[in-house]
Amino acid sequence: MKFTQVTGHDDTFLVDVTPPHRLHPDVAAAFGRLQQRARQAGFDLQPASCFRSFDRQLAIWNAKASGTRPVLNEQGQALAREQHSDWEWVQAILRWSALPGASRHHWGSDLDVYDAAAVAAGYAVQLTPEEVDPGGPFAPLHAWLDQQIARNDCEGFFRPYAIDKGGIAPERWHLSYAPLAAECERSLQAEALLQLLRQCDTLALAPVIEAHWQEIYQRFITPAVAACNQEVGR
Ligand SMILES: [Zn+2]
Repeated sequence: MKFTQVTGHDDTFLVDVTPPHRLHPDVAAAFGRLQQRARQAGFDLQPASCFRSFDRQLAIWNAKASGTRPVLNEQGQALAREQHSDWEWVQAILRWSALPGASRHHWGSDLDVYDAAAVAAGYAVQLTPEEVDPGGPFAPLHAWLDQQIARNDCEGFFRPYAIDKGGIAPERWHLSYAPLAAECERSLQAEALLQLLRQCDTLALAPVIEAHWQEIYQRFITPAVAACNQEVGR
């Protein structure tokens, strides 16, 4: 697989799911099957976010870096930029957002989901722990997904961020299609990714990222890009 395809620089391999959402054709087909099964169980499984380009992830990163888009703490509350050093701020962003080039959403294999039947039409999906934890509107959908994943009967989907290892927050809304994601994970190399970020002259906080690259890669990137091969091996 080409490096451009795993870093969000190629969108030619995608197909429409529910516009504007796009996925790899194999993933779109598998998600369609999962939607059908969810419907029979009483859920309206819908995508909240699918493929994201490098430029889109860069825009999200830069908005969080500058503080124009909220950066959240563990409890989902917005942090104050002026109370944190640059390095603290980078870590806080990385807890919930990937660096451009290092997002699983670049691959066409991963998506965030919700249950449209559990909320009013026009509800703005937040993708926060409160929505998916017990008592939240999407908790029953995720309990059902847990059952399918536990039985290894989820059309190839699993949760790459299921366990909190202190880096990336556990995002229950995020599903990954293992057959394709495993291939993407093997194509992503630390050194090539750092080169790519060096070439990006609009990346906010770039000197901080470069200075802490080893730790960032170990704590925030490896758990994301090796999740699949760990899961599949189990
Ligand atoms: Zn996601």
